[in-house]
Amino acid sequence: MNPTQRIALILTAVFLIPALFFSVYEISSLTQDEKMIGDIYEKQLESILFSVNQYSDDIINDWMSKTQVSLDSDPAAEENTGLQNLAALNESLRLIFYTDTLGQSPRLAIHSLDSGLAARLRPAIAHTLALHQPQLNQLVRYKKSGFQKNEVLASPDTALRHYHVVCFISENANATLRTAGFVVEPSAFVEDLVGPKLQKIAKDQFVLAVYEKDNAAPVYSTLSGDTVTSAMLTKDFWVFPGYTLGIRTQGASLQHLVRQRTQNNLMLLIGLDVILVVAVVLAFRSVKKEVQLAQNKADFVANVSHEIRTPLALISMFAETLEMGRAKSEEKKQEYYAIIRQETHRLTGIVNKILNFSQTEAGKKTLHLQPVDLAHEIKDVLRVYDFHLKSKGFVYDAQDIPPTRVLADKDAVVEIIVNLLDNAIKYSPEEKTIELRTGQSATEGWLAVRDHGVGIARTDQKHIFDKFYRVPTGNLAKSRGTGLGLSLVRQLLTQQKGRIAVESDLGAGSTFTIFLPLAPNNTV
Ligand code: ADP
Repeated sequence: MNPTQRIALILTAVFLIPALFFSVYEISSLTQDEKMIGDIYEKQLESILFSVNQYSDDIINDWMSKTQVSLDSDPAAEENTGLQNLAALNESLRLIFYTDTLGQSPRLAIHSLDSGLAARLRPAIAHTLALHQPQLNQLVRYKKSGFQKNEVLASPDTALRHYHVVCFISENANATLRTAGFVVEPSAFVEDLVGPKLQKIAKDQFVLAVYEKDNAAPVYSTLSGDTVTSAMLTKDFWVFPGYTLGIRTQGASLQHLVRQRTQNNLMLLIGLDVILVVAVVLAFRSVKKEVQLAQNKADFVANVSHEIRTPLALISMFAETLEMGRAKSEEKKQEYYAIIRQETHRLTGIVNKILNFSQTEAGKKTLHLQPVDLAHEIKDVLRVYDFHLKSKGFVYDAQDIPPTRVLADKDAVVEIIVNLLDNAIKYSPEEKTIELRTGQSATEGWLAVRDHGVGIARTDQKHIFDKFYRVPTGNLAKSRGTGLGLSLVRQLLTQQKGRIAVESDLGAGSTFTIFLPLAPNNTV
């Protein structure tokens, strides 16, 4: 496994896999949380409805005990003041009735503020009591066992259509039992007694309502004109069978809020994951670059050592031969001198290149921009290189290149041409033809060096301008180099506001083209 793969593996193991696990865990727990919050909230709503039911039940119980006390203190009186007071204080309590005894047809006494109503309802109440004898007997049994219960008696009489008959068993001091009860108007009960309680609970958080079953319009609602029943949590209204209590949150429903929150959390989580992935990719890229550079540097040291050792070995060998007088003829001596000079020249070249590179990279090299004719500089360089090129068997073509005036540093341009020419020579082992061209566009002048050598694979093309980079395959490794030439060329061009491009096909040759800003007109 190479260092880059190792780094990729470490980054994945340290950041991406934990983030992935965390995200999966969070997403699954988010839906669970949503359900749990929903359940808890529903329980709370249920307990609110329970308290309303309890409250209403307490009112009826209070009425029952007050009735019992009143009957006990004044059992025979026609005008029972306790009952009169009770009826007077509660508008929904339309009338209070009681019998003198239990049994088949007891005498029925009625207390009401509305004597007309009392007269109208008397037969219906008597009829209802007679109809529900079994339920009354059950209430008696409860009473005898010590439970004070009440029963809402359904009535077929149309006179009682808008009322509920609530019945219970009353017992006076000498243990006489009798049937007693109320005729209650549910809508008034809800309006007068339950309504204020609902308003108190609702504040501006909830909507509470009372419904008659199978009727969408509420009998009472804390939010006037509210008809949204679908989102309501409902429970039976204990005191009045056929009625329902409903509750929901005001504004957005809880489910909606929880879902919204879950969605936000999810988006946040995905956003964080994306940022993490981008960060890991960026970190990986920069580390990969550093690793590559370190690798290139190591290669560079090996290359340069090799580059320096070979000429040094040759110089020392031939110097020693000459010193010991082993050169037989004058001709041989001249040959050895030439080799020593050539190798010294090569050493100087390498050292100069490294120095040049480090100076340029450190920004210590100051360039003097002036109008420079690229065609002229090509010809100057070729004049010097002519012998070298021809002795290596190269044919070059730089005929009819138009003068191209750019704004550049003369020495830097020469350095660039020499480097490109050097590479063309180095990397053209078989077809030894080189073409040099110039030209210009509206804003730039260009210079191209074309060879028909080994070419550069597409994947390597983006690295060849990196410092210390050398294409690591093929017989290129055999050709000498430092990996600094093209990097130096690019640096010099950047400093002169220029750029470089390469077009190359493996095995078919390469064309390196440099671009520099045009010089102001007619200044060369
Ligand atoms: P080097 O000292 O290795 O020539 P350079 O920076 O000049 O360093 O070039 C970097 C690499 O680009 C070289 O190692 C070589 O593989 C490739 N290269 C440069 N010029 C050419 C060319 N004309 N033809 C083929 N490959 C080239």
